[in-house]
Amino acid sequence: MALILLFSIICLSHPQIELHVHLDGAIRVQTILDVARRRGISLPADTVEEMTQIIIVQKPASLTEFLGKFAEYMHVVAGDREAIKRIAYEFVEDKAKEGVIYVEVRYSPHFLANTQVDPIPWNQEEGDISPDEVVHLVNEGLKEGERAFNIKARSILCCMRHKPNWSMEVVELCKKYHQEGVVAIDLAGDESLNSEACPGHRKAYEEAVRCGIHRTVHAGEAVEVLKAERVGHGYRTLEDQGLYKKLLAQNMHFEVCPISSKLTGACDPDFTKHPVITFRKDKANYSLNTDDPLIFNSTLHLDYCTAQKYMGFTEEEFKRVNINSAQSCFLPDKEKKDLLNKLYEAYGMVQSTAF
Ligand SMILES: [Zn+2]
Repeated sequence: MALILLFSIICLSHPQIELHVHLDGAIRVQTILDVARRRGISLPADTVEEMTQIIIVQKPASLTEFLGKFAEYMHVVAGDREAIKRIAYEFVEDKAKEGVIYVEVRYSPHFLANTQVDPIPWNQEEGDISPDEVVHLVNEGLKEGERAFNIKARSILCCMRHKPNWSMEVVELCKKYHQEGVVAIDLAGDESLNSEACPGHRKAYEEAVRCGIHRTVHAGEAVEVLKAERVGHGYRTLEDQGLYKKLLAQNMHFEVCPISSKLTGACDPDFTKHPVITFRKDKANYSLNTDDPLIFNSTLHLDYCTAQKYMGFTEEEFKRVNINSAQSCFLPDKEKKDLLNKLYEAYGMVQSTAF
């Protein structure tokens, strides 16, 4: 009993920052069912329990298999104004409940659209929601969530590896909505496609550099080609010691997602051999994140507890992780400083200045 209590205190007592989570991988199953019912879309199950079993990955799968899970439900929310706004709003609520005070959530605007996107994803009929309107709707949902739940939420727009022809539009949307909560560009999708050098992606990232748009990328190998400031996962950089040492020296930020890395087959399923243990020993700059909590049936709390239970993480290291996360987030300097001060205060690292 005492042990359980101690365990939950360490995992939960401090405010957290999350930098790598996909909006379309963080939807409530109940919402998928509600929207399907309203739109008259039939699903293979009609209870949360049954639908959850269909969507989640329970044992290590290939990344390609994992990406196939999105096809179970994306056609329900894509192309529906109310649903797109609702998933953004509910996302903020869920993060606030987990104790997150600042989150950067990412998604592909094209994957939620049903017009001005080629091809129209998820076998949808053509409609009237463009990728541009998707960004507007998500921004609205996030903003309403911020007001209701008193946390800060920003977004990152994803280019997709297999769609280099979407990437210039993605960077243009980053520019257009820069003042309305969009803070960066990402490259996501199936990493077995070695496409980061595609001219479409490269040009988009060059334009991002030119316009001061922040950049992260799902692939350590592409950090230099795409001039990324953070790397999603990045475990494989350990296989190239030269690159790894260079990234360490640059203080490159690794967005680590423990449970995701096991269930997508990115790492050895034995958590005691996880690459983040090397990152921790080397005092690397990294965050802990959920990636796709819907598909992994997980929470940020579970990722932290996994790190504590199997990877030797202490409360001190959790503090260091979150301070590094705040320092590597894509907020403007002033807001970043405020966020850091909030953490220092919550972690008892500053004397009160009130006298
Ligand atoms: Zn990801």
